[in-house]
This record gives sequence, C-alpha cells and structure tokens, in this order.
Amino acid sequence: MDLSSIAVTRLKGVGPKQAEKLKRLKIASLQDVLFHLPLRYQDRTRVIAIGNLATGLEALTSGVVVSCEQLYRGRRSLQCIIEDRDGSQLSLRFFHFNQKQQQMLRVGSRVRCFGEVRRGPRQLEMVHPEFQIIAANVDPSVALEGESSLTPIYPVTEGLHQLSMRKITEAALINLKSADVKELLPDSVNNGVSLKQALMTVHRPQADVDLDALLEGRHPAVQRLVLEELVAHRLSVQQIRNDIKKQTAAVIEPGVASGEATLCEQLLASLPFPLTGAQLRVIDDIKRDLALGNPMLRLVQGDVGSGKTLVAAAAAALAVDAGYQVAVMAPTEILAEQHLLSFSNWFEPLGIKIGWLKGKLGAKQKRDALESIALGQSRIAVGTHALFQQDVLFENLGLTIVDEQHRFGVHQRLSLREKGVEGGLVPHQLTMTATPIPRTLAMTAYADLDCSIIDELPPGRQAITTVAIPNTRRLEIIERVAAAIKEGRQVYWVCTLIEESETLQANAAEDTLVELTEHLPAARVSLVHGRMHASEKEQAMHLFKEHETDLLVATTVIEVGVDVPNASLIIIENAERMGLSQLHQLRGRVGRGSAQSSCVLLYETGLSQRARDRIGTLRETNDGFLIAEKDLELRGAGEVLGTRQTGSAQFKIADLMRDKKLLPQVKEISDEITLHYPQQILPLIGRWLGDESPEYGNV
Ligand code: ADP
Ligand code: MG
Repeated sequence: MDLSSIAVTRLKGVGPKQAEKLKRLKIASLQDVLFHLPLRYQDRTRVIAIGNLATGLEALTSGVVVSCEQLYRGRRSLQCIIEDRDGSQLSLRFFHFNQKQQQMLRVGSRVRCFGEVRRGPRQLEMVHPEFQIIAANVDPSVALEGESSLTPIYPVTEGLHQLSMRKITEAALINLKSADVKELLPDSVNNGVSLKQALMTVHRPQADVDLDALLEGRHPAVQRLVLEELVAHRLSVQQIRNDIKKQTAAVIEPGVASGEATLCEQLLASLPFPLTGAQLRVIDDIKRDLALGNPMLRLVQGDVGSGKTLVAAAAAALAVDAGYQVAVMAPTEILAEQHLLSFSNWFEPLGIKIGWLKGKLGAKQKRDALESIALGQSRIAVGTHALFQQDVLFENLGLTIVDEQHRFGVHQRLSLREKGVEGGLVPHQLTMTATPIPRTLAMTAYADLDCSIIDELPPGRQAITTVAIPNTRRLEIIERVAAAIKEGRQVYWVCTLIEESETLQANAAEDTLVELTEHLPAARVSLVHGRMHASEKEQAMHLFKEHETDLLVATTVIEVGVDVPNASLIIIENAERMGLSQLHQLRGRVGRGSAQSSCVLLYETGLSQRARDRIGTLRETNDGFLIAEKDLELRGAGEVLGTRQTGSAQFKIADLMRDKKLLPQVKEISDEITLHYPQQILPLIGRWLGDESPEYGNV
C-alpha cells in the first residue's frame, strides 16, 4: 500500500476543515503526516521536584497552593505560590484568568503544572502554565496516564493546535504499524534502523530513549531520516538545475571582429580605475557561460565592497551588445535606486537607455516605463520586485541580474525567468550575494551550482577598525561622531530593534534622531526608516549621498548595498541582538573609500556568551567568509540562507551544521541513486519537499 496515495481525510477525526488547515502545512496524504516531524520534545514523563527546577527548563512539577492573590502592578495578574514537601516554592502567574481558575487554585489545592521555568521577582516562576488539580488520593509525583513517551512539539499553523496535531500523527502511526512505508534509499544504506522504526521513534520517543542523542541528532533513528532528507534535497537541486540547463538561451558572444571596441570594453575604459584581477576573472566566467546557448545559472559571491555592481554591469554590457535586454533587480528600493544611478552613469554616456520600475510609480511614469521596456527602447531595466509583475513584458530579455539573492523568494525568481520564454529563449541568470555561502553549505545546498568568488577588494582599502562599547558610554561615542563630522566625514547611526515591527523600529530611529540633534546642533542630519514615504526616503538618501547631510540616522533598511565612500564611521546600536552576517553587512557601509574607517558596536551591558562570541568574531576579522562560517555555527543553516524570512525549504529534521559529517555520504548515495535507481528520484523529492522547489537561491 502506498501511503502517499492515501488522503489525510481517511484518518480518524480528520474532516474537510482539518484537511484544509493541513494543506497549509503541505500535508495531503498519510505519508505527508508521517514526514511532518517534531521540532522538539517536552518531557512530561517525570515530575520534577520544585527544588530541582532551573530557569529555562520546561518541566512538569507539583506542589500545594500556599497563597493565591490578585496583584495590581501595572497590570492585573493572579499569583499563586505552590510549595513542595521540603518547602521549595514556585510562583505561577496568570495575566488572563477567570473566577473558576482562581477558585481551583485556592490555598490547599494540590496542583500539577507544566511550563517553562523563569526567574521571578522572588522565586522561580511559570507564566501561564498548563495545570490541573490532583485529588488528595493521587500521588502527585507519578506522571499522568498515557504520558509514557516524550511529548512531541510539531510545526503547526493557525487554528491547528499541538493537541490536534498529536492526535493526527497518532492516527497515522497506528496506520503505519500495519502498513509499510516505502524504503527509497538503496539497500546498501543500512544503519540498523528501518525507516518505519525511525519514524516511530522520532514521533513518539519512549521515556527511556537517550533524549540527548535524539536532540543532538546522534540517535540512529534521527540519522536515518537526516540522511534521506539531505539526499532528497541534493537530488532536487540537481534536478532543477538539470532541467534549466537543458533549455535554450541566447548565445551571447563578445564583440564581432569589427575593430571597434565592444560595449563592455568601452564601459571598462570609461572607469577612473582598473578592475581588480578577481573582477576580471569573474567576468571571464560569465563570458564563457553566456556563449554556451544554455541558460547561465551563476552565483557571484563577493564580500561587501568587492565591486559586484561593476561585474554585473560588464555582464549587462555583453548582453546588450549582443542585442538583448537585461533586467537588474534589487530587493529594496534604496538599493535599486542606487543601481539605477550607477547604471545610468555608466551606460547613458555610451548611448544605452535605462528603464526604471518600482512599486509606487505614477500612472503615467509607469505606462511610459512599461512601454519603453516592451518596445525594447530601454535596453536595461532596473528595479525592485516590480519587475516581476505580470504586466512587465520585455521585447527580448536575455539576462536577468539579481542582487542580494537571499531576499527574493524562489517563485519571484522563477517568474522572472519565465519572462524571456515568449521568444522560446530562457534568460541567463546572474545572482550576486554579499552574504557568502560557507563552504559547508555550498556542498549540499548549492550542489554543483556554478559559483564565482570575487576574493579581492579594490586596492587602497583599509581594514575597518571595529570596537565594542557599552551603551553607558554613549556620550563619548556621540563626541566621536562630532569629531568625524568636523573632519568632513560622514557617519551612519543605525538603530536596531529585535522586534519585527516597522513602527517600533521607526519610533526608535526618530527618538535617536531627536537625541542626536540635541547633542550635535551643528550636524546636518537625515533620517531613513521603513515607515517613511518612498519619496522621503529617496530624498534623505540623496542628500546623504551628495554630502548635503553629515549624519544618517537609519534602521536596518540600509543593511544592503548602500554606497557612500565618504562615510567612515558607523555606529550600530543593540549590536548584541543581531546576527553576525547582518552586522558584517551593516559594517560594510563604511570602508568603501580610501579613508580609515571605524565601526562602533554599542551594546547593553550583561552580554550573553553567544553575544560575546559574535562581537569577538567581528572585532577579529573582516573576512566575510570566516564570518559566514562562524555565523552558521552559531545560528544554524536556515537563518544563514535566509530561509527564515521566506519561510520555505527549512529542513524537517536535518541541520547542516550538526549533520555535516554526513555530507560525503549524502553525495555518494545521491550519485548511486542517479546512476542506478533514477526511478526513486521523484518519490524521494516528493516525500521530503513536496511540490516546492528548494529555496536555494540560484537554481
Ligand atoms: P559591492 O560588492 O558591495 O556591491 P560595489 O559594487 O558597490 O560593492 O562597489 C563598492 C565601491 O567600490 C564602489 O564605490 C565602486 O565604484 C568601487 N569599485 C568597484 N570596483 C573597483 C575597482 N576595481 N577599483 C576601485 N574601486 C572600485
Ligand atoms: Mg552591492
């Protein structure tokens, strides 16, 4: 029986409504349920004595209520103190509660509760624990009926709770007992655990399981699944790549032998500096790809400031010279605009017209831009995601250039690729990223992808000096800003907040602006944040670029790509809360000219060890590759690849950093399958990735 052909609705308790919600988790079949794996586990198999609780622990505990009262400190809450036999106390706090609950928690009640232990004002505390009252004749130290296995916590979606998910997986596991799930890996792969056993163990680990081994991925059941998942991902990337490579693309060959300089040569000749060896080498890689007649799929990695934009421009020149149009896309308006400026400066003197498309254009402007692109008058179109929209038609798109790729979703990239297809040709694709992909990841995620690395900075750049300073010394830093401005330099002040909310971020930036103008009355200041009108942002950036202002107070919207070579000092607030790669990107806003530049990481005191590590790494090195590798170690692969933002293609169970020792085996198995069992490829991909193609950037 093929479990992938059995609909979830056949499971007990799953009706059409549930099925609809499950669909959001990409669960349609029984097999999908079985491969929807827990994120982590809770241990409700043991009752832990209050005296043995520690902060951060999620635990089941019990005690007798010794006090229960309503508090009114700012906000109404119910505080209930429970105590165990040896007098250890735990506070249970509720911000939402009703009379019945209050009644249940009266003094003398015996309570068993489960929750995360936090440090409270007086004693350890659980906020909104799950709780139940135990009858006097029940021994509270015995775990609840039916909790002989660890409690799995699943990825869920709105309206579908853990409890339902547990019931659904329970039902699927009962089916699995009598049915069999197809083994898709070759027989040679055998680590002593069958796929069926592995699934049983991971969904319902028995209380005696080696939990550490399970959580750290050392458990054979986990390894069995990880191996299969990584193989499926690798095969999928290869598959997509092969499909694309089979298609036909424009043959773009440099310069006819007319004796005249090609457009690319003219472009390079017009620059006030020679290209670096690394830039020239990467342009050669691109030239070779473009001449082949199959779509190029090249990823250019280069640290911040390595000069990727010019490489992109050279590629564009090659395509334009051969009679094709080029689309240049950036993830933010500020960045797109900057590309527009660079490309206009470089190409317009050579007689090449640049089109401009962004989200909010006036109706007439938009119509004109679209028309000019459709008629082929604009040879190069620069823009944001607006370039992806359906009403954008090219006359003959031959090359798309995507900057800072990890911010775009796979569908957007694919839809742009389709734009060239009308003429039967698939556009070449060049992707540029300043977040280098660590070698570890490159091995699997970018299986066999064509990569070029700009591993050299333009000459004359000085390493940026990075210092970490506690926020208590803020005034000193403000003085430093004043000094830099006095020397004719420009300064960035970046306000960061952990909250996603753009409003909060904007407020923080506005407050800082007020504070800084108070202390720096002579400075000319600009403000840029996400809540501002596009035209206001443009205006502020423009003023800063033209050195009409000295200080730019901004949120992290300026993270990528902004280029103002005269800026030599950047202050980053709350640096302790930010990821390494993001800090490195922000820091890369300075050190772009020949002046000695500095980066000040302001932090709140009381740094965690991890924050200390991150800041230490940044102070020690300016090498984006080292930083990316370290970032991966500290954060895990999903975040480094930027999949958290786009929300897809996270691994269900694998963790590239944790499991990297499996990678050579993954490659071997994938090759064996491709060679001897190609019929397994699609079932494997389907099982682990569904219809989604992986979110791996340049595929
Ligand atoms: P990134 O790789 O971060 O996108 P940019 O393309 O924005 O870098 O280039 C950073 C700065 O370096 C720009 O001001 C650009 O004009 C300059 N630049 C690029 N290539 C060279 C070079 N070969 N020599 C000197 N300056 C260069
Ligand atoms: Mg750039």
